[in-house]
Amino acid sequence: MTSCPRCTFETVDTLHSSPVPGVWDVLQCGRCLYTWRTTEPARRTQRDAYPEGFRLTAEDIANAPEVPTVPPLLNEIQHSQPVLRSRAAAPSLPHPAE
Ligand SMILES: [Zn+2]
Repeated sequence: MTSCPRCTFETVDTLHSSPVPGVWDVLQCGRCLYTWRTTEPARRTQRDAYPEGFRLTAEDIANAPEVPTVPPLLNEIQHSQPVLRSRAAAPSLPHPAE
């Protein structure tokens, strides 16, 4: 039975399968959301070979710090600018070569 290489959870979903049947599958862990393709090397697909520094346990996941939310936009001026504009219309932006 396939389990998650990162956290050993045993509920793994198949997200995609190769156009040619049986060549590869893309799998995703139902707990930590780690995603891998079955043709990746053992260090990405098998718990025994998965790097120790990146392994997770259920306790690690339960105690993980909260991921910070995306902060609000700096101000309404930036928000109201057109998304696409020429460099000539934005003289305040330095050219990368300068
Ligand atoms: Zn996992």
